[in-house]
Amino acid sequence: MKKIAIFTLSIIISLQVTAQENYKKCLTTPLVEKELIGNSDYAKSRANIISENKIWIKNNSKEKNIINIPVVVHIIHRNTYTQIGQGNNISNAQIEDALKILNEDYSKTNPEHPTPPRNTFINYWGNPDMKFCLATTDPDGNPTNGITRTSTTKLSFDADTESNEMKRVWSGGIDAWDPSKYLNIWVCNLSNSGGGGMTLGYAYLPGLSGSNLYKDGLVIDYQYFGTIGGASSSSDGRTATHEIGHYLGLNHTFAEGGIWNGFPYGCADSQGNLICCDNDNDNVDDTPAAKDIYFGNVISSTNNNTCDDTFYGFSTDLLDMDENFMSYASTAWMFTDDQINVMNATLNGYRSSLKNSTVSMNCDGSVGTGLNNYQLENLNIYPNPTLGKLNIVSADKINTLSITNIIGKEILFAKDISANTIDFSSYESGVYFINISTDKGTHIEKIILTK
Ligand SMILES: [Zn+2]
Repeated sequence: MKKIAIFTLSIIISLQVTAQENYKKCLTTPLVEKELIGNSDYAKSRANIISENKIWIKNNSKEKNIINIPVVVHIIHRNTYTQIGQGNNISNAQIEDALKILNEDYSKTNPEHPTPPRNTFINYWGNPDMKFCLATTDPDGNPTNGITRTSTTKLSFDADTESNEMKRVWSGGIDAWDPSKYLNIWVCNLSNSGGGGMTLGYAYLPGLSGSNLYKDGLVIDYQYFGTIGGASSSSDGRTATHEIGHYLGLNHTFAEGGIWNGFPYGCADSQGNLICCDNDNDNVDDTPAAKDIYFGNVISSTNNNTCDDTFYGFSTDLLDMDENFMSYASTAWMFTDDQINVMNATLNGYRSSLKNSTVSMNCDGSVGTGLNNYQLENLNIYPNPTLGKLNIVSADKINTLSITNIIGKEILFAKDISANTIDFSSYESGVYFINISTDKGTHIEKIILTK
């Protein structure tokens, strides 16, 4: 009897472990494959990028200077969460925390450096030397803190069927800022109607174009962006690290396969069974072959070895590199040199306009002072351009209002108003900035005076 009891208990435990495992933690592989099937331009572009990257890697070495990348974070929150910091209308502090973790991981200054939990692959550990900075100019040339906040009636976006709906105004989200100049990160509440675990995030591999370009960028569940505020206690804040790896051309370090939305994806047969061992061979040769996703912590005694690497170009069989950011392990801390070469090649090829973006940005890791996400739906400033008279309607009391000219000289100042018409027609035609401060935050906008 005792034996049977133990046996039953072990079945229950193993079922619980299986339920916790999350085969859809990142949706990139099935999403990319679905796009490849339905979009021949993307398929051609992917093939070109892989071969161009190979040539770049052959002829160049990693950038010596840090590459700064302008980022816009789009917070899509439920309309009932009107206050910043409430529900999925996450705080600026949570956004700063997410950027801090991301920038540590991309500069090899993450807490695991220089003494990681295990040393197996310490000599493979490279430094991407990249920095992600909040944009300070929006696509219209207006000042911004690099964060947009959009209220939606949707409780969540279904990652299985609404993967791109947060990227369009008409489907409850917000349109991308020019993806050739900004890295767009949509942060929202994700759900999964298809079962099989929870999706924390996803990103398309580089190559989208034309009418599909709007999909380019990262989607991350608000509970897995950063580790504080509205973040889940199980968030390591590294979903963005992993998804930017995809965005810059990296695949998972492990072979995966299954059925998603009725079609077999990855390295799977028609029933969705995994049939191979290594799938990250797009110019990355220094990550060992792996399959059977590992979800656990990586500690000094971790010794998974799911494939014989001598079949995949290695002279000896190595352990699985579970500590790689492109794995699913719950602790990860490194990119390899080959992965960094691919990311560099992408930034010098398909994403060169992002690398060379002239968008101004704030790289100090903090959300810019004085630009605190004023809820735009409560504020209307019109007409713009103006002949000189400007109507300002605000649901919130305006504490201070000022207009400065292009060199920063204040030409008009008012305080304690709720709605007003201001007249600055006596000034010369040109570009001005209006700065409106309320208890909810400050809004700055470019105004064009044409007479
Ligand atoms: Zn992934």
